[in-house]
Amino acid sequence: MSRVPFICGNWKMHMTVPEALALVDDVIARVASMDGVEVGVAPPYTALHAVSKRVAGTKVRLAAQNVHFEPKGAYTGEISVPMLADVGCQYAIVGHSERRQYFGETDAACAQKLAALHAGGLRSIYCIGETLEERDAGKALEVVGRQLLAGLEALEPDAVAEQVIAYEPVWAIGTGRTATPDQAQEVHEFLRAQLTQRYGAEVAGRMRIQYGGSMKPQNAKELLSQGDIDGGLIGGAALKAEDFAAICGAAR
Ligand code: PEP
Repeated sequence: MSRVPFICGNWKMHMTVPEALALVDDVIARVASMDGVEVGVAPPYTALHAVSKRVAGTKVRLAAQNVHFEPKGAYTGEISVPMLADVGCQYAIVGHSERRQYFGETDAACAQKLAALHAGGLRSIYCIGETLEERDAGKALEVVGRQLLAGLEALEPDAVAEQVIAYEPVWAIGTGRTATPDQAQEVHEFLRAQLTQRYGAEVAGRMRIQYGGSMKPQNAKELLSQGDIDGGLIGGAALKAEDFAAICGAAR
């Protein structure tokens, strides 16, 4: 089954509003004529509204970096799915390793977020990945398999098919150390097999599984040419429009 690759930039806690607008304008111009690839950006919350106006009518999709699973209420500092929909988000990143590590985000909380996003008409970019200790202990597949199924647990198969999975080995995020194409493909193939076993070949064949972890123009082509790698979640390289656009170009 052919899947349109999806490249999404995770801007993390970077970019004031003017900086975000300059970056997104540059990205829009560089990817405007690229067919065969879906492109998204995930600015910080403070820039979502302004960036949303800029990406309207372009090929760039808007993603949030996190979300709360309740629609509203006394949750100081949190942002809900209806609020993200209100500013034009189509995606939200869930379960990024930085959120798991620094903010105690669990698989169970991710499952609630995925369900809330689906109910609100948004799609998730659900991040999973093993630590270096887990990989060295031979537990990489066991860990990502568990995270994958736990996060999707509350969704029906049709809803599962619409979600994007991001395999991000924790040891490769922001470290400059990338998984080799073979290492990444091994995990992606395993994840698709898990999805096939649980939800059937049709659902698994439709799902996009991104790779994330120090992807840059120099290594993107080789990673993205692997059979089960359907795009990338890009951190550092997404902050330079030229590098980000080069990765988008490599995905086509
Ligand atoms: C990320 O944080 O999702 C990521 C992949 O970061 P980097 O590309 O900087 O490793």
